[in-house]
Amino acid sequence: MEKTLFQKICDREIPATIVYEDDLCVSFKDISPGAPAHLLLVPRKPIPRIAAATAEDQSLLGHLLLTAPKIAREQGFADDGFRLVINCGKNGGETVPHLHVHILGGRQMEWPPG
Ligand code: C5P
Repeated sequence: MEKTLFQKICDREIPATIVYEDDLCVSFKDISPGAPAHLLLVPRKPIPRIAAATAEDQSLLGHLLLTAPKIAREQGFADDGFRLVINCGKNGGETVPHLHVHILGGRQMEWPPG
C-alpha cells in the first residue's frame, strides 16, 4: 500500500518540523498554521479517519489524547488553554486521510467553528 503523506513525514521522507515523537505517534508543526501554535499529532499507524478506528486502537487513541496536552505543555502554550480538533471525512473537513489531531493554541478560539 502507498504510504500516506503523514506516514512519509513520520518516516522523514517528507520534511516537517517535528516537535515530538515516540514509538506510537509523531507531532509536527502544521505547514499552514491556523493559530500562533498549530501542531498536528498523528499515529504512526495509518488509520484513515477517526471513524475507521476499532476497538483494537483503544489504547492508541487514549495515548494520543494524553500526549496532546503533554506536547502543548512542553511547547509552552498550555497554560492559557488550547483546542484539540479531529476532522473526519468530507463534511468534517478532513483533507489528509490519515487520522490526525490538530493542537491549536496561542490565541482566543471562537465557537462555533466554521
Ligand atoms: O484536518 P485536515 O485533514 O484538514 O488537516 C490537514 C492538515 O495538514 C492541514 O492543516 C494542512 O495544513 C496540514 N499539512 C501539513 N503538512 C503537509 C500537508 C498538510 O502540515 N505537508
